[in-house]
Amino acid sequence: MSCTIQQNNLYNSIKPIKSMPLAVTHIIITIVLVDLYRHYIAKNSFSRVYVLIAGIAGLLPDADIPLSWLISLFSKTPLIVHRIFTHAVIWSILFVLIAFIIHISSKKKYFKFTKKQVALFFIMISIGWLSHIVLDCTLQGNETISWIPIIANLNFCPKWLTQEAITGLDAIILLAWLIHEEIKHKIKDYF
Ligand SMILES: [Zn+2]
Repeated sequence: MSCTIQQNNLYNSIKPIKSMPLAVTHIIITIVLVDLYRHYIAKNSFSRVYVLIAGIAGLLPDADIPLSWLISLFSKTPLIVHRIFTHAVIWSILFVLIAFIIHISSKKKYFKFTKKQVALFFIMISIGWLSHIVLDCTLQGNETISWIPIIANLNFCPKWLTQEAITGLDAIILLAWLIHEEIKHKIKDYF
């Protein structure tokens, strides 16, 4: 097990900031997909706030990058934990399970939120998390992405695009979405 961590650390220490340019891609693609679902399938049956929550959650797995910086800062030795624990499908499944447990619970409110709102919150976290892993997997390859951290790695990631193409993808998706929103006269909804 420690050998795997060492290998992962070695790999990531060679390319520690490789996924950083993907930050925008993670947020934009997740927001666009969830917003399209909200608009065309869910018929605006949930608030746009959840689209934003999913978008932010689309970036959450990469919170291990600043965490690596912090750990390195305090331990005074470079220690990279990027993609070792957070980039696992199991977290997404766990968030769905939490949402399901909340949904079937007898409790009607959690603090000032209804259980439907809280369950939807965890569903959005799950969607954002999964979208991050799927994007990393399809665009960047395996690189320690797993079903369960350290125990069960994913090894079928296709790595379709180069880093430059990914950066261009951001612009294309954002432009297409803005055009879509303009055609649908929805841009004003954001202001
Ligand atoms: Zn990532």
